[in-house]
Amino acid sequence: MSRFFSEKYAALTPYTPGEQPQDQQYIKLNTNESPFPPAPEAQQMAAEAAEKLQLYSDPTAAPLHRALAETLGVAPTEVLATNGSDEILNFAFMAFCDAAHPAVFPDITYGFYPVFAALNGVPATVLPLRDDLTVDLDALAAAKGTIFLANPNAPTGIALPRAAIEALLAADPDRMVVVDEAYVDFGAESCVPLIKKYDNLLVTQTFSKSRSLAGARLGFGVGCEALINDLNTIKYSTNPYNVNRMTMAAGIGALAQEAYTRANCAAIIENRAFAADGLRALGFELTDSRANFLFAKHPRIGGEAFYKALRARGILVRHFSTERIKDYNRITVGSRAQMQALLDAAAAILEETP
Ligand code: PMP
Repeated sequence: MSRFFSEKYAALTPYTPGEQPQDQQYIKLNTNESPFPPAPEAQQMAAEAAEKLQLYSDPTAAPLHRALAETLGVAPTEVLATNGSDEILNFAFMAFCDAAHPAVFPDITYGFYPVFAALNGVPATVLPLRDDLTVDLDALAAAKGTIFLANPNAPTGIALPRAAIEALLAADPDRMVVVDEAYVDFGAESCVPLIKKYDNLLVTQTFSKSRSLAGARLGFGVGCEALINDLNTIKYSTNPYNVNRMTMAAGIGALAQEAYTRANCAAIIENRAFAADGLRALGFELTDSRANFLFAKHPRIGGEAFYKALRARGILVRHFSTERIKDYNRITVGSRAQMQALLDAAAAILEETP
């Protein structure tokens, strides 16, 4: 730390992203990327946009907002595109949390929430998941503050039904609820249809997973116009050109080929069932994941040991050292061939494990 670093950040522990190793060709199952390339139209439109990179991007992102609105069945004034969904989540912490409105989230969830809370000097109320790693809705409902709920949750993959979230929204109309739907396209119920009914709901989604655009950095929020206006105040006070030209074009191209996205999601769901069955047959215990990853542990090998053994065999998965989940690994669902390689490696590792 330099002597110039502001004291307000001195205690900040930044988020640790998953490894992106450049040294070796791994089977990369550690950051929940898609095994499929971006939609052809996304690639082509991004390439065309590159020819105009001397110009700033459109700060209103109007064509992208129109395309998003059409896809989601909402108005263009009810969406806001951001630089990954991490950015809209940070905007939500900035806009909807303060000393009187702490951020409320489970102990086991997306690791960025506590970082955003600390970054913005916002108090956090952390509520433990139940023993079966499901969200304790009663505890959430009883807590005061702005709720952040990843649905499906990460890294467990467990999803809540829309009705459960609606009950939370209805129970206290004066409480904000942010539903992070980064993984919703892989088999959970979206809360987007609820934004017409509840002005205390913000839904966030991303192009990083189901739309194969993790490297483009594109996310968005959906909510009533007043919430989107608040988030625009934050956007125009930080970075009006938050979505670059190529990314905006890629997003529009991806939305023009929704059938491609739906087919890829169906393939991931099928590969998830294939990998889950294979892992269970080897004795692994898994949560009921509705995301593009599995969350698995084995009674005979620790989480870190399994992570290291897979790494030695050229397969990268994500291990979290958090005490409660240290026995598990989060394994991205990739192609069928990648899942077969994972199962082969797991079988070989278990054979060598007494
Ligand atoms: N929410 C959750 C639950 C995630 O796992 C991720 C991916 N790390 C994000 C949000 C952010 O994704 P992105 O910024 O790529 O949209």
